Amino acid sequence: MTEHLNVLIIGAGLSGIGAAHHIREAFPNRTYAVFEARDAIGGTWDLFRYPGVRSDSDMQTLGYRFRPWTDAKAIADGPSILRYIRDTAAAGGIDKHIRYDHPVTRATWDSSTARWTIEAEHGGEIVTVTCDFLYCCSGYYRYGQGHAPEFDGVDDFDGRIVHPQAWPEDLDYTGKNVVVIGSGATAVTLVPAMADRAAHVTMLQRTPTYILSQPSQDAFANALRKIVGNRISYGITRWKNVLRDTLVYQLCQRYPDTMRKFIRGLTIKELPEGFDVDTHFKPPYNPWDQRLCLVPDSDLFKAIGSGDASVVTDRIDRLTAKGILLESGAELPADVVVTATGLKLLAFGGIQFTVDGTPVDIGSTLSYKGMLLGGIPNFAFTVGYTNASWTLKADLVSEYVCRMLRYLDEHDYGTFVPQPEPGIEGAPLLNFSAGYVLRALDEFPKAGTRAPWRLGMNYAQDLLTLRHGRINDKAMHFTKKLSDRNTDGAEALPA
Ligand SMILES: Cc1cc2nc3c(=O)[nH]c(=O)nc-3n(C[C@H](O)[C@H](O)[C@H](O)COP(=O)(O)OP(=O)(O)OC[C@H]3O[C@@H](n4cnc5c(N)ncnc54)[C@H](O)[C@@H]3O)c2cc1C
Repeated sequence: MTEHLNVLIIGAGLSGIGAAHHIREAFPNRTYAVFEARDAIGGTWDLFRYPGVRSDSDMQTLGYRFRPWTDAKAIADGPSILRYIRDTAAAGGIDKHIRYDHPVTRATWDSSTARWTIEAEHGGEIVTVTCDFLYCCSGYYRYGQGHAPEFDGVDDFDGRIVHPQAWPEDLDYTGKNVVVIGSGATAVTLVPAMADRAAHVTMLQRTPTYILSQPSQDAFANALRKIVGNRISYGITRWKNVLRDTLVYQLCQRYPDTMRKFIRGLTIKELPEGFDVDTHFKPPYNPWDQRLCLVPDSDLFKAIGSGDASVVTDRIDRLTAKGILLESGAELPADVVVTATGLKLLAFGGIQFTVDGTPVDIGSTLSYKGMLLGGIPNFAFTVGYTNASWTLKADLVSEYVCRMLRYLDEHDYGTFVPQPEPGIEGAPLLNFSAGYVLRALDEFPKAGTRAPWRLGMNYAQDLLTLRHGRINDKAMHFTKKLSDRNTDGAEALPA
C-alpha cells in the first residue's frame, strides 16, 4: 500500500518549518510530512558555515510572525537563526514529521484520483507517497554547488580557492592574505569577519554595491521588550521595521537620484577622509535595482578604516602562482581566494512535475500571486520577497494555503487550480538584475503583468489580498470532492 498524506511539504528550511507550523495549527487532524533532501533542518542556515555568516535583514521580520525573536541582536548570526528554526520545529513536534535524506525528484498529478504521487530517493531506493496537497518550500538555489566563474590560471595558483557555500572546516587563514571576490551580502559579511585573523583581506569587486550600516541591536525593540514582553514588542517592532523598509524601498523607486546622493553621503561619513567613494561604493544602477546590502555596526567600514581590509574595483585577468593579476595590470597577493560570486539558482528543487500525463515546463508557467502555478492543481510554493525579509511572504503564503484548504472543505471541493486567460504577459518572478538571477530566469515561472498573476512586492498590500482577498476569483477553478462527482468524471466548476 502506498502511504497517503493530506499535505506533503518539500524542504525543512525556514519556509518548510513555518509551513508545517501553520498546517499543524490550522488542521491538527490532518496528516503531513516534510521531505528534506539533506540530513538536517535549517536549509540555508545549516548549509552556510563561512566566518561571520549572518542575516542581512532584521530578525523581527526574518523571524516567523507566530514566534517572537527574543535575542538582543536583531541582525543575527547563522547559528542563532539555525537554533531558532530547530526550536520552532521541536516546539510543535514538527521535527518528528521530517523525513531526512528524502530528495524529491518527481511530482505527478492525476485528476482522476485528485492526488499527487511523489517520488523521493532514499537509501538507494525510490520512496513513493501520495498526497492531496503539495507545498514546495525548497528554496531557490542549488545546494550541491554555488556559482563560481572560471578564471584563467587557476592551476597556476599556489594558494587555496574556496566557495562560501562549501566552507572547508580545516581552512586556517591566520596571518594570510585573503582576497574575497564579490560585492554582495556574502562578501561584505566575510571581509570584516576574516579581517580579525588574516594578515589582510581585500574585497575584489567588478561592480560596487550600495551598502548601509545598521545597529546590530535594535535599542527600541530591546527596551520595549522589557516593558510589554516578548510577544507585543515583537509585533510592534515587526511593523516598525516593515514600514521603515517599505519607505526606504519606495523612496529609492520614486526618487533614485536623491537616494543615491543620500546613501553616498552616509557612506562618505563611514570611511576615512579622502577615500575614493565614487570608485568603490558608487554602483552604476539605482538603489534597490539590486538588493541593498546591510552591514551591522559599520563592521565593513571599520575594517577598511583600520587598514585590515581594503576594496579594489577592477576585473580579473588571471590567477598567478602568488595571487590575482588584474586587468589594470596590478597584482593582488593572495594565499586564499574566496569566490563569493553567488548562487546557482534552481526552481522547485529540480523536481520534474507532470500533470495528467503531460510534463510541466516550469519556465513557461505563470505564477498566481507569486505562490501558486497556473494549470497546476493543489500546489503552492514559497519564494520570499527580494526587497524585504523572506519570511514576511512565507508566513502569508502559509496563511493563504490554510484559507484555501478551509475553503475547499467548506464547499466540498477536492481540487483548486488557477488558470490564466490567454494573453497575459509574463514578467520575471525574481525581479532583480543581479547576474546570477538573470542567468536562471528562464527556468523559473513568470509572474503576470496584471492581478491576480502579478507578483506582490509590498507586504502590507499582500497582507490584505492574501489574508482577506477573495479565494474564488475569476482565475480560480474548483472541482468537487471525488465522492461528490458525477460518475462521468471530474466536474470543473469555475467560480
Ligand atoms: C547566505 C544567505 C543569507 C541570507 N540572508 C537572508 C536574510 O538576511 N534575509 C532574507 O530575507 N533572506 C536571506 N536569504 C535568503 C534565504 O535563503 C531565505 O531567507 C530563507 O532562508 C529561505 O528559506 P527556505 O526554507 O525557503 O529555503 P532554504 O533555506 O533554501 O531551504 C530549502 C530546503 O529545501 C530542501 N530541498 C531543496 N530541494 C529539495 C528536494 N527536491 N527535495 C527535498 N528537499 C529539498 C533543501 O535541502 C533545504 O533544506 C539568505 C540566503 C543566503 C544564501
